[in-house]
Amino acid sequence: MELTRMKVVFFDLDGTLFDHHHSLRLAIAAMQRNYTGLTEKTVDELIDKYNIALQQAYDAYLDKVITYEEADVRKLHLFFSSLDLPEPSLDEVQKFRDTYKAVYRKNRRATSGSIEALARLREHGYRIAIITNGQVEDQTAKVKAIGIHHLIDRIITSEEAGYRKPDRRIFQSAIEQLGASLDTTCMIGDSVESDIKGALDAQLVAIMYSPTAQNSQKLLFGQQITIIQHMAQLLGHLGIGGYRVQPHFVSTPGRLMIEGIDTGLVWEPRHCLQVSKEGAQRDCSSWLKE
Ligand SMILES: [Mg+2]
Repeated sequence: MELTRMKVVFFDLDGTLFDHHHSLRLAIAAMQRNYTGLTEKTVDELIDKYNIALQQAYDAYLDKVITYEEADVRKLHLFFSSLDLPEPSLDEVQKFRDTYKAVYRKNRRATSGSIEALARLREHGYRIAIITNGQVEDQTAKVKAIGIHHLIDRIITSEEAGYRKPDRRIFQSAIEQLGASLDTTCMIGDSVESDIKGALDAQLVAIMYSPTAQNSQKLLFGQQITIIQHMAQLLGHLGIGGYRVQPHFVSTPGRLMIEGIDTGLVWEPRHCLQVSKEGAQRDCSSWLKE
């Protein structure tokens, strides 16, 4: 596998470029605070149950068994039933949904290092697409919310493509849309089944993104798959010099100055921190934390 030959990079969105786990944790914790029936369990237990319910309901939607709106209700019914709690009324479902969505959306952010990695890839002339199972509107809004829309050439959704990962045809469609070739395109994703299996079936090089992984390689579907725990490692595998971030904070009354950040990369907007390109170029003191 010669990763240094790559010219096009496909990314999964949820759990890969988008920090789904961060939003999920805060949204579940908010639901727990609003409903006494959930206080018996830890947030981690609730997250596990919720993820299973979410996957089952979402699969039913993708299989066209239920509509997208019905999937929301089904998800909460499955979640409550897995906790041996009574089925919530439609009113309760609405309340849970409102609480969950508001907190989830408010806390959307990119995964650690992905904005820098995307910016550096573009700087080196790579073309970048997102391949995601989901709806155009939702996924595009998410991409915009986490500040990476301008760094992406195309978003390919299962809704638009008519196929969903791991079906090789969604990858083939992406290759056609970008005018890419198989031997210079790789796929990065966090799902063994959807991303890795799908990419390998489509004859693409696959890299697994797994922040909690202990190993840097894993045998999957008969192939040694490279695992990265942080997006900065992707740049190294592609032969691109990594970015150096060794921030040093200097605090004076009314001003917070940050030194030691790669100036070429800091002005991409991200959660909690906004630095303008002009500000970064003009004066380091413009790097203010909101
Ligand atoms: Mg994913």
